[in-house]
Amino acid sequence: MKFVDEYRDGNLAQQYAQKIAQITSQPWKIMEICGGQTHSIVKYGIDALLPKEITLIHGPGCPVCVTPIELIDSALKIASLPNVIFCSFGDMLRVPGSEKDLLTIKAAGGDIRIVYSPLDSLKIAQENPNKQVVFFAVGFETTAPATAMTVYQASQVNLDNFTLLVSHVLVPPAMEAILSAPNCQVQGFLAAGHVCTVMGYSDYEPLAQKYSVPLIVTGFEPIDILQGIYLCLQQLESGQTTCENQYIRSVQPQGNILAQQLIQDIFEIVPRTWRGIGEIERSGLGLAPKYAKYDAIERFKEELAPMAPSSVPEICISGEIMQGYKKPHDCPAFGGECTPEHPLGAPMVSSEGACAAYYRYRHYEVGV
Ligand code: SF4
Repeated sequence: MKFVDEYRDGNLAQQYAQKIAQITSQPWKIMEICGGQTHSIVKYGIDALLPKEITLIHGPGCPVCVTPIELIDSALKIASLPNVIFCSFGDMLRVPGSEKDLLTIKAAGGDIRIVYSPLDSLKIAQENPNKQVVFFAVGFETTAPATAMTVYQASQVNLDNFTLLVSHVLVPPAMEAILSAPNCQVQGFLAAGHVCTVMGYSDYEPLAQKYSVPLIVTGFEPIDILQGIYLCLQQLESGQTTCENQYIRSVQPQGNILAQQLIQDIFEIVPRTWRGIGEIERSGLGLAPKYAKYDAIERFKEELAPMAPSSVPEICISGEIMQGYKKPHDCPAFGGECTPEHPLGAPMVSSEGACAAYYRYRHYEVGV
Protein backbone atom coordinates (compact mmCIF):
# COMPACT_ATOMS: atom_id res chain seq x y z
CA MET A 1 0.00 0.00 0.00
CA LYS A 2 1.49 3.31 -1.08
CA PHE A 3 2.86 5.38 1.81
CA VAL A 4 2.56 2.45 4.21
CA ASP A 5 4.56 -0.54 2.95
CA GLU A 6 7.72 1.44 2.23
CA TYR A 7 7.57 2.82 5.78
CA ARG A 8 7.44 -0.69 7.26
CA ASP A 9 10.41 -2.10 5.33
CA GLY A 10 12.43 -4.32 7.69
CA ASN A 11 15.70 -3.98 5.75
CA LEU A 12 15.43 -0.22 5.74
CA ALA A 13 14.68 -0.28 9.46
CA GLN A 14 17.89 -2.28 10.06
CA GLN A 15 19.85 0.23 7.98
CA TYR A 16 18.53 3.13 10.05
CA ALA A 17 19.28 1.24 13.25
CA GLN A 18 22.89 0.83 12.07
CA LYS A 19 23.17 4.51 11.15
CA ILE A 20 21.80 5.46 14.56
CA ALA A 21 24.29 3.16 16.30
CA GLN A 22 27.17 4.64 14.28
CA ILE A 23 26.51 8.20 15.41
CA THR A 24 25.59 7.49 19.04
CA SER A 25 28.48 8.28 21.38
CA GLN A 26 26.74 8.69 24.75
CA PRO A 27 23.40 8.12 26.54
CA TRP A 28 20.45 10.20 25.33
CA LYS A 29 16.80 10.39 26.39
CA ILE A 30 14.27 11.18 23.68
CA MET A 31 10.52 11.60 24.25
CA GLU A 32 7.93 10.71 21.62
CA ILE A 33 5.06 12.99 22.47
CA CYS A 34 2.24 11.09 20.79
CA GLY A 35 0.58 7.89 21.97
CA GLY A 36 0.26 6.78 18.33
CA GLN A 37 4.05 6.87 18.08
CA THR A 38 4.32 4.98 21.39
CA HIS A 39 2.14 2.22 19.99
CA SER A 40 4.32 1.97 16.84
CA ILE A 41 7.48 1.86 18.94
CA VAL A 42 6.16 -0.90 21.19
CA LYS A 43 4.37 -2.83 18.44
CA TYR A 44 7.35 -2.92 16.05
CA GLY A 45 10.01 -3.20 18.74
CA ILE A 46 11.74 -0.03 17.57
CA ASP A 47 13.29 0.57 21.00
CA ALA A 48 14.87 -2.90 20.83
CA LEU A 49 16.62 -1.94 17.57
CA LEU A 50 18.33 1.03 19.17
CA PRO A 51 21.70 1.08 20.93
CA LYS A 52 21.43 0.69 24.71
CA GLU A 53 22.49 4.31 25.16
CA ILE A 54 19.18 5.54 23.71
CA THR A 55 16.17 5.66 26.03
CA LEU A 56 12.78 6.41 24.55
CA ILE A 57 10.43 8.12 27.00
CA HIS A 58 6.70 7.96 26.34
CA GLY A 59 4.92 11.31 26.49
CA PRO A 60 1.40 12.50 27.36
CA GLY A 61 0.14 12.48 23.77
CA CYS A 62 -3.05 10.54 24.37
CA PRO A 63 -6.03 12.89 24.59
CA VAL A 64 -8.28 10.23 26.08
CA CYS A 65 -5.72 9.56 28.82
CA VAL A 66 -5.37 13.20 29.82
CA THR A 67 -9.09 14.04 29.90
CA PRO A 68 -9.64 15.06 33.53
CA ILE A 69 -11.63 12.74 35.77
CA GLU A 70 -13.97 15.61 36.71
CA LEU A 71 -14.99 15.92 33.06
CA ILE A 72 -15.46 12.15 32.75
CA ASP A 73 -17.71 12.28 35.82
CA SER A 74 -19.67 15.14 34.22
CA ALA A 75 -20.00 13.06 31.04
CA LEU A 76 -21.31 10.13 33.08
CA LYS A 77 -23.88 12.32 34.80
CA ILE A 78 -25.10 13.88 31.54
CA ALA A 79 -25.19 10.51 29.77
CA SER A 80 -27.39 9.13 32.56
CA LEU A 81 -30.11 11.74 32.00
CA PRO A 82 -33.30 10.29 30.48
CA ASN A 83 -33.73 12.79 27.65
CA VAL A 84 -30.12 12.73 26.46
CA ILE A 85 -28.40 10.96 23.56
CA PHE A 86 -24.70 11.00 24.43
CA CYS A 87 -22.28 10.63 21.49
CA SER A 88 -18.62 9.72 21.88
CA PHE A 89 -15.65 8.20 20.14
CA GLY A 90 -15.42 4.52 21.05
CA ASP A 91 -12.32 4.54 23.22
CA MET A 92 -13.91 6.92 25.76
CA LEU A 93 -16.52 4.31 26.72
CA ARG A 94 -14.19 2.22 28.91
CA VAL A 95 -12.35 5.14 30.52
CA PRO A 96 -13.05 4.88 34.24
CA GLY A 97 -14.65 7.78 36.05
CA SER A 98 -14.72 7.94 39.84
CA GLU A 99 -17.25 5.10 40.10
CA LYS A 100 -18.19 3.80 36.65
CA ASP A 101 -17.72 4.33 32.93
CA LEU A 102 -19.90 5.18 29.95
CA LEU A 103 -20.20 1.52 28.97
CA THR A 104 -21.76 0.73 32.36
CA ILE A 105 -24.30 3.49 31.83
CA LYS A 106 -25.03 2.21 28.32
CA ALA A 107 -25.53 -1.31 29.70
CA ALA A 108 -27.99 0.13 32.21
CA GLY A 109 -30.06 1.63 29.39
CA GLY A 110 -28.40 4.98 28.76
CA ASP A 111 -28.61 6.15 25.15
CA ILE A 112 -24.90 6.32 24.39
CA ARG A 113 -23.82 6.13 20.77
CA ILE A 114 -20.36 5.60 19.31
CA VAL A 115 -19.66 8.00 16.46
CA TYR A 116 -16.73 8.19 14.06
CA SER A 117 -17.05 11.92 13.44
CA PRO A 118 -18.60 14.77 15.42
CA LEU A 119 -20.70 15.45 12.33
CA ASP A 120 -22.46 12.12 12.96
CA SER A 121 -23.71 13.51 16.26
CA LEU A 122 -25.04 16.59 14.48
CA LYS A 123 -27.08 14.32 12.22
CA ILE A 124 -28.39 12.43 15.26
CA ALA A 125 -29.47 15.77 16.77
CA GLN A 126 -31.34 16.72 13.59
CA GLU A 127 -33.07 13.33 13.52
CA ASN A 128 -34.06 13.55 17.21
CA PRO A 129 -35.45 17.05 17.80
CA ASN A 130 -37.11 15.99 21.08
CA LYS A 131 -33.84 14.82 22.61
CA GLN A 132 -30.79 16.69 23.84
CA VAL A 133 -27.78 15.39 21.91
CA VAL A 134 -24.33 15.83 23.43
CA PHE A 135 -20.99 15.15 21.75
CA PHE A 136 -17.93 14.42 23.92
CA ALA A 137 -15.28 16.45 22.07
CA VAL A 138 -11.95 14.95 23.08
CA GLY A 139 -8.74 15.32 21.16
CA PHE A 140 -5.66 17.32 20.23
CA GLU A 141 -5.34 19.91 17.49
CA THR A 142 -5.85 17.06 15.01
CA THR A 143 -9.53 16.56 15.77
CA ALA A 144 -10.32 20.17 16.73
CA PRO A 145 -11.10 21.24 13.12
CA ALA A 146 -13.81 18.57 12.78
CA THR A 147 -15.30 19.63 16.11
CA ALA A 148 -15.13 23.28 15.02
CA MET A 149 -16.85 22.47 11.71
CA THR A 150 -19.61 20.68 13.63
CA VAL A 151 -20.22 23.73 15.83
CA TYR A 152 -20.18 25.96 12.76
CA GLN A 153 -22.76 23.78 10.98
CA ALA A 154 -24.94 23.60 14.11
CA SER A 155 -24.91 27.40 14.26
CA GLN A 156 -25.79 27.67 10.56
CA VAL A 157 -29.03 25.73 11.09
CA ASN A 158 -29.53 27.21 14.56
CA LEU A 159 -29.74 23.77 16.13
CA ASP A 160 -30.82 24.12 19.74
CA ASN A 161 -30.86 20.50 20.94
CA PHE A 162 -27.12 19.97 20.42
CA THR A 163 -24.20 20.70 22.76
CA LEU A 164 -20.60 19.62 23.23
CA LEU A 165 -18.62 18.57 26.26
CA VAL A 166 -15.31 20.02 25.16
CA SER A 167 -11.95 18.64 26.27
CA HIS A 168 -9.64 19.59 23.43
CA VAL A 169 -6.00 19.98 24.46
CA LEU A 170 -2.99 21.61 22.84
CA VAL A 171 0.40 19.94 22.49
CA PRO A 172 3.02 22.73 22.66
CA PRO A 173 2.01 23.93 26.17
CA ALA A 174 2.27 20.33 27.42
CA MET A 175 5.73 20.00 25.90
CA GLU A 176 6.75 23.23 27.60
CA ALA A 177 5.37 21.98 30.93
CA ILE A 178 7.51 18.84 30.60
CA LEU A 179 10.62 20.78 29.56
CA SER A 180 10.28 23.33 32.34
CA ALA A 181 9.83 20.74 35.11
CA PRO A 182 12.83 20.78 37.49
CA ASN A 183 13.41 17.03 37.10
CA CYS A 184 12.93 16.94 33.31
CA GLN A 185 15.04 14.21 31.72
CA VAL A 186 14.04 14.84 28.10
CA GLN A 187 16.94 15.82 25.83
CA GLY A 188 15.15 15.60 22.49
CA PHE A 189 11.57 15.43 21.27
CA LEU A 190 9.72 13.64 18.50
CA ALA A 191 6.78 15.98 17.90
CA ALA A 192 3.45 14.64 16.65
CA GLY A 193 3.23 14.79 12.85
CA HIS A 194 -0.56 14.83 12.65
CA VAL A 195 -0.83 17.78 15.04
CA CYS A 196 1.70 19.70 12.93
CA THR A 197 -0.20 18.79 9.75
CA VAL A 198 -2.98 20.99 11.12
CA MET A 199 -1.03 23.60 13.09
CA GLY A 200 2.33 23.76 11.30
CA TYR A 201 5.43 23.95 13.46
CA SER A 202 6.13 27.62 14.02
CA ASP A 203 5.39 27.17 17.75
CA TYR A 204 8.14 24.56 18.06
CA GLU A 205 11.27 26.48 17.04
CA PRO A 206 10.97 28.89 20.03
CA LEU A 207 10.63 25.85 22.33
CA ALA A 208 13.72 24.23 20.79
CA GLN A 209 15.69 27.43 21.34
CA LYS A 210 14.40 28.23 24.84
CA TYR A 211 15.06 24.75 26.25
CA SER A 212 18.00 23.78 24.01
CA VAL A 213 16.40 20.59 22.72
CA PRO A 214 16.13 19.24 19.18
CA LEU A 215 12.52 18.91 18.15
CA ILE A 216 11.74 16.64 15.22
CA VAL A 217 8.27 16.66 13.65
CA THR A 218 7.80 12.92 13.11
CA GLY A 219 5.29 10.53 11.53
CA PHE A 220 3.92 7.28 12.86
CA GLU A 221 5.24 4.40 10.77
CA PRO A 222 8.38 2.53 11.91
CA ILE A 223 10.65 4.15 9.30
CA ASP A 224 9.25 7.59 10.16
CA ILE A 225 10.12 7.07 13.80
CA LEU A 226 13.60 5.71 13.08
CA GLN A 227 14.26 8.67 10.76
CA GLY A 228 12.99 11.02 13.46
CA ILE A 229 15.30 9.45 16.04
CA TYR A 230 18.22 9.63 13.59
CA LEU A 231 17.62 13.34 12.90
CA CYS A 232 17.29 13.99 16.62
CA LEU A 233 20.57 12.18 17.34
CA GLN A 234 22.38 14.04 14.58
CA GLN A 235 21.47 17.27 16.36
CA LEU A 236 22.20 15.98 19.86
CA GLU A 237 25.62 14.64 18.87
CA SER A 238 26.56 17.85 17.06
CA GLY A 239 25.19 20.21 19.72
CA GLN A 240 22.39 21.65 17.57
CA THR A 241 18.93 22.42 18.89
CA THR A 242 16.42 23.29 16.24
CA CYS A 243 13.06 22.18 14.91
CA GLU A 244 13.26 19.86 11.91
CA ASN A 245 10.54 18.18 9.85
CA GLN A 246 10.81 14.44 9.17
CA TYR A 247 7.15 14.13 8.14
CA ILE A 248 7.47 16.16 4.95
CA ARG A 249 4.93 14.08 3.05
CA SER A 250 2.21 15.48 5.31
CA VAL A 251 3.44 18.55 7.19
CA GLN A 252 3.93 22.04 5.75
CA PRO A 253 5.64 24.65 7.96
CA GLN A 254 2.50 26.78 8.05
CA GLY A 255 0.12 23.83 8.53
CA ASN A 256 -3.48 23.92 7.32
CA ILE A 257 -4.43 27.59 7.41
CA LEU A 258 -8.14 27.03 6.75
CA ALA A 259 -8.36 24.54 9.62
CA GLN A 260 -6.52 26.96 11.92
CA GLN A 261 -8.92 29.78 10.99
CA LEU A 262 -11.87 27.57 11.79
CA ILE A 263 -10.37 26.62 15.16
CA GLN A 264 -9.71 30.30 15.95
CA ASP A 265 -13.27 31.26 15.06
CA ILE A 266 -15.00 28.58 17.13
CA PHE A 267 -12.66 28.20 20.12
CA GLU A 268 -10.69 30.27 22.57
CA ILE A 269 -7.56 29.16 24.38
CA VAL A 270 -8.23 28.20 28.01
CA PRO A 271 -6.33 26.62 30.90
CA ARG A 272 -6.91 22.85 30.96
CA THR A 273 -6.37 20.22 33.63
CA TRP A 274 -4.51 17.17 32.28
CA ARG A 275 -5.42 13.96 34.12
CA GLY A 276 -2.49 12.81 36.24
CA ILE A 277 -0.50 15.95 35.46
CA GLY A 278 -2.51 18.94 36.67
CA GLU A 279 -3.51 22.27 35.20
CA ILE A 280 -1.41 23.61 32.33
CA GLU A 281 -1.89 27.22 31.40
CA ARG A 282 -3.26 27.93 27.90
CA SER A 283 -3.27 24.22 27.06
CA GLY A 284 -6.90 23.72 26.07
CA LEU A 285 -9.58 24.86 23.68
CA GLY A 286 -12.97 25.98 24.98
CA LEU A 287 -15.91 27.29 23.01
CA ALA A 288 -15.64 30.99 22.22
CA PRO A 289 -18.28 33.15 23.98
CA LYS A 290 -20.33 33.56 20.80
CA TYR A 291 -20.81 29.75 20.69
CA ALA A 292 -21.50 29.36 24.43
CA LYS A 293 -25.01 28.02 23.75
CA TYR A 294 -23.32 24.81 22.51
CA ASP A 295 -21.49 24.26 25.80
CA ALA A 296 -22.92 21.17 27.54
CA ILE A 297 -21.56 22.27 30.94
CA GLU A 298 -23.66 25.43 30.63
CA ARG A 299 -26.72 23.62 29.24
CA PHE A 300 -26.71 21.03 32.04
CA LYS A 301 -25.42 23.19 34.89
CA GLU A 302 -28.45 22.48 37.09
CA GLU A 303 -28.17 18.71 36.62
CA LEU A 304 -24.41 18.81 37.20
CA ALA A 305 -24.58 20.69 40.50
CA PRO A 306 -23.69 19.60 43.05
CA MET A 307 -21.23 16.89 41.95
CA ALA A 308 -19.48 14.59 44.42
CA PRO A 309 -15.69 15.11 44.48
CA SER A 310 -13.94 13.01 41.82
CA SER A 311 -11.37 10.43 42.80
CA VAL A 312 -8.81 8.24 41.00
CA PRO A 313 -7.31 4.97 42.29
CA GLU A 314 -4.21 5.76 44.34
CA ILE A 315 -2.31 2.88 42.81
CA CYS A 316 -2.53 4.35 39.26
CA ILE A 317 0.72 6.07 38.27
CA SER A 318 -0.49 7.23 34.86
CA GLY A 319 0.60 10.82 35.55
CA GLU A 320 4.19 9.73 36.16
CA ILE A 321 4.09 7.54 33.05
CA MET A 322 2.75 10.35 30.86
CA GLN A 323 5.43 12.73 32.10
CA GLY A 324 8.13 10.20 31.32
CA TYR A 325 9.23 9.42 34.89
CA LYS A 326 8.03 5.80 34.83
CA LYS A 327 7.01 3.08 32.37
CA PRO A 328 3.83 0.95 32.49
CA HIS A 329 5.78 -2.03 33.85
CA ASP A 330 6.62 0.09 36.91
CA CYS A 331 2.95 0.26 37.93
CA PRO A 332 2.14 -2.37 40.59
CA ALA A 333 -1.33 -2.80 39.09
CA PHE A 334 -0.13 -3.41 35.50
CA GLY A 335 -1.54 -6.65 34.13
CA GLY A 336 -2.95 -7.68 37.52
CA GLU A 337 -5.48 -5.34 39.05
CA CYS A 338 -5.43 -3.28 35.85
CA THR A 339 -6.09 -4.88 32.47
CA PRO A 340 -7.95 -3.73 29.34
CA GLU A 341 -10.97 -5.71 30.61
CA HIS A 342 -10.80 -4.09 34.06
CA PRO A 343 -8.93 -0.81 33.63
CA LEU A 344 -8.07 1.39 36.59
CA GLY A 345 -6.75 4.22 34.42
CA ALA A 346 -7.36 5.62 30.95
CA PRO A 347 -3.92 4.62 29.51
CA MET A 348 -4.97 0.96 29.80
CA VAL A 349 -8.00 1.38 27.51
CA SER A 350 -7.21 4.15 25.08
CA SER A 351 -5.97 3.11 21.63
CA GLU A 352 -3.12 5.57 22.22
CA GLY A 353 -2.47 4.73 25.88
CA ALA A 354 1.02 3.56 26.86
CA CYS A 355 -0.28 0.93 29.31
CA ALA A 356 -2.54 -0.54 26.60
CA ALA A 357 0.44 -0.71 24.22
CA TYR A 358 2.62 -2.50 26.76
CA TYR A 359 -0.17 -4.86 27.73
CA ARG A 360 -0.92 -5.72 24.12
CA TYR A 361 2.63 -6.18 22.89
CA ARG A 362 4.87 -6.59 25.96
CA HIS A 363 2.88 -8.36 28.66
CA TYR A 364 5.07 -11.46 28.28
CA GLU A 365 8.04 -9.44 29.56
CA VAL A 366 6.52 -9.26 33.04
CA GLY A 367 4.92 -12.69 32.93
CA VAL A 368 1.30 -11.61 33.12
S1 SF4 B 1 -1.39 0.00 34.47
FE1 SF4 B 1 -3.43 0.81 34.96
S2 SF4 B 1 -3.27 1.51 37.07
FE2 SF4 B 1 -1.19 1.33 36.26
S3 SF4 B 1 -0.69 3.35 35.44
FE3 SF4 B 1 -1.50 2.14 33.74
S4 SF4 B 1 -3.68 2.66 33.74
FE4 SF4 B 1 -2.90 3.30 35.75
